Amino acid sequence: MAQDAPLATATTTAAVAATSQSRDGGAAAPASAAAGDFFGEGVLFTVGQGIRRMPAAPYQRQKGDPLYRPLRIYTVDPAAARLDGAIGTINVPYEPLKPGPVGALFGVVATGAAHRSADLEDPHVLIAGGYRPSPSDPRFHHQMVYAVCANIYAAFRTALGRSLSWGFGDALTPARLLLKPHFAEEKNAYYTNEGASGAICFGYYPAPDKPTDRSLPGGYVFTCLSHDIIAHEVTHALLDGLRARFAIPSGPDVAAFHEAFADLVAIFQHFSYREVVMVGIRRCRDALDKAELLLGLARQFGHTTGQKGPLRTAIEADPAHPQQYDEDDLRQEAHARGSILVSAVFTAFVTVFRRKTERVIRLATGGSGILPPGEMPHDLQSELADRASRLASQFLTICIRAIDYCPPVGITYGDYLQALITADFDVVPDDPWDYRGALIDAFWQRNIYPRFATSLSEDALLWKEPTRPLPPVPRLDFAELRFQGDPANAASAEEVRRQACALGRYVTEGERFAEFGLVRNGDARLQGDSVGPPCIESLRTARRAGPDGQIVFDLVAEITQVRQVPACGAGPGFDYHGGCTVILGPDGRVRYLVTKSVAGHDRLQRRREFLASPAGSLYWRVQGDRYQPLSGMFRLSHLARAGSGPQTAF
Ligand SMILES: [Zn+2]
Repeated sequence: MAQDAPLATATTTAAVAATSQSRDGGAAAPASAAAGDFFGEGVLFTVGQGIRRMPAAPYQRQKGDPLYRPLRIYTVDPAAARLDGAIGTINVPYEPLKPGPVGALFGVVATGAAHRSADLEDPHVLIAGGYRPSPSDPRFHHQMVYAVCANIYAAFRTALGRSLSWGFGDALTPARLLLKPHFAEEKNAYYTNEGASGAICFGYYPAPDKPTDRSLPGGYVFTCLSHDIIAHEVTHALLDGLRARFAIPSGPDVAAFHEAFADLVAIFQHFSYREVVMVGIRRCRDALDKAELLLGLARQFGHTTGQKGPLRTAIEADPAHPQQYDEDDLRQEAHARGSILVSAVFTAFVTVFRRKTERVIRLATGGSGILPPGEMPHDLQSELADRASRLASQFLTICIRAIDYCPPVGITYGDYLQALITADFDVVPDDPWDYRGALIDAFWQRNIYPRFATSLSEDALLWKEPTRPLPPVPRLDFAELRFQGDPANAASAEEVRRQACALGRYVTEGERFAEFGLVRNGDARLQGDSVGPPCIESLRTARRAGPDGQIVFDLVAEITQVRQVPACGAGPGFDYHGGCTVILGPDGRVRYLVTKSVAGHDRLQRRREFLASPAGSLYWRVQGDRYQPLSGMFRLSHLARAGSGPQTAF
């Protein structure tokens, strides 16, 4: 796209279109608490911070508001060539903005020498589609981090069918994620969660004397101008809002999963820029698995930190011998471990892309299916680019939806495979292009499968329904739930607490405890350890649209429990989290249970080994006679990456 591309060519991702065109929120339905609504809270069960916080409040479109705000961004980074589609105009869901820009969900904080807020409501700026892309104009830096973050948020909102909340905040005001584009001179960027507030800190640094790309030797490289780094960091923040306990690295896969998931979102997002996809397809022809422009990550960062190429890539070095996952490897660095999961998902993506384009290639080659040497016809490039973009958007949605089906604590790659399969099966039961088969094969080729899987067939990988029939949860069917006009919008904090208490009373009743993977004090499996009451951590609606337009409504809840493991001959003590994710249908019936019991002896032993291992000691310290987590998991894993090779992180 040319620098002054007319606004008519602005990219509107499908997710942004869905977000912007949803109806206004309408009047809130105030919940008036009745006696008994909160019965049991604090005695039988507790209610977590995620429920006590004021839900995030995206701007509700008013009558007459525009749908979008077109803004220019770097689709890759400032060092990418103009002909590679390096500058694009994207349509961001409209909201009024204060200088910063500061909107309902994100607030850009200008700091240091570059203290110039971007005023995106200035008529001169508005008419030009935002500030002109320039590494030397800090106002453009602010515009870019805002625009990319808002677009990624829209992708999550569309995939999950609800507004997302942050993993920080308080009970009084809706939280806003702070974006600090010029935080410090360091080769790092990271998300921080301080409990009441959360921020993304972007570093900057001088390029070396001989960068291997078009960067100016000695000139400043800003991580806030890398599309991939922004997308990666805001994904950490969004995932933290969805699964707060994933910020506690309780096993070798937890931090690695965070890194892998952030990379997956960043790479799939490349496919939403048509110019970039066209160039990528033209170069790789139909071999998408070799498309470095599309599958590489953070090119300028890699080139200016001694990598001579993208910092990371989804391309396997040796496709015939893919990297192998070893669940018990306790030395592996989080990003290196994460790259195995990233390449598994992209292998599945490329497999389905081949299936879906085979016929087009045959038609274009007179039946041979073999492209002649030289440039592909433009129409064919265009057709392949469209199909790649659509498929990438579907895969991104599949990856995001699966988070709702993950356990609340201690995720493993095997869990994520089961979550992917179950979440997709729920919306697309027939799967004519066998997306799920492609995912299972790609994971299996890398030795990723659930530890206790009896087979790798689709039905064996689906999460289980309750072992015995359970009655519907009273007061949690959709007829009784209250929303802010639309199930996409979180109800008031009080209404969510009412719902959480209804679930809390239900799971603590009699024998149901065990069905939900929960344990009571005195249980012989605890070997004398004490365990806290269940905590209802979150309760959210999910509205998913399938490929045929069918809509599926569900409620997703996380319940956790903490076992106090004392110091003993086997080592220091620690808090050992368990619990379950509950998926409820719109009628209040329990559909799936994803349990991680605190009574599992095997998991306890593995946890002990992890805490004492090189990978674990990065995040945990012994204080007194107990392991305590160090604060700032994301910064720590990014710094560990820096220490493990050339000076590179994020
Ligand atoms: Zn990261």
